[in-house]
Amino acid sequence: MFSPLIDELIQSLRILPGVGPKSAQRMALYLLERNPSGASRLANRLMTAVEQVGQCQSCRNLSEEPECGLCRNPRRDNDLLCVVESPGDVVAIEASGTFSGKYFVLHGKLSPIDGIGPSELGISALESRFETHCPKEIIIATNPTIEGEATSHYISEKARKFDIKVTRIAHGVPVGSELEYIDGSTLAHAINSRQEIQQ
Ligand code: ZN
Repeated sequence: MFSPLIDELIQSLRILPGVGPKSAQRMALYLLERNPSGASRLANRLMTAVEQVGQCQSCRNLSEEPECGLCRNPRRDNDLLCVVESPGDVVAIEASGTFSGKYFVLHGKLSPIDGIGPSELGISALESRFETHCPKEIIIATNPTIEGEATSHYISEKARKFDIKVTRIAHGVPVGSELEYIDGSTLAHAINSRQEIQQ
């Protein structure tokens, strides 16, 4: 229906998450018909970002510098290290304004079926970080999925060898929700990780 170049553009747009054939077509036509200058800018930015953005050598977060801004920030607490699955998780935790330590980004979770093991997650880099930075506490903030829990368990075993206190983020009832609509396993988590009400 479309010429080969337009068709290739549509197919390329489909690599984006949540973009099906209809949306890809709409995006391609919008870029070519309505906003060709925006399209050129997008293409340039994309090319530059892909070429220059890599991983921070300390925390593996995305960065165009060898060491990212968070790792270079002297006000961040070196005693606290939060381990997350993705760069998006760093952004979410930063937005919460509750954490002032440093991060380590796994870029995934243990998943033998998909061929993701400790080396893909940079576990040896994490261990050398335990050794060189000696954090007092590591907070494991992987997602509450089966793979996320397995990853958490694996990392906590590693950290214990270095005598580091290991904590796991709490999972439970979302703020503003009602108990009767919460699923059983979430509620079980919430009850198991209950806390004493401080006076
Ligand atoms: Zn960093």
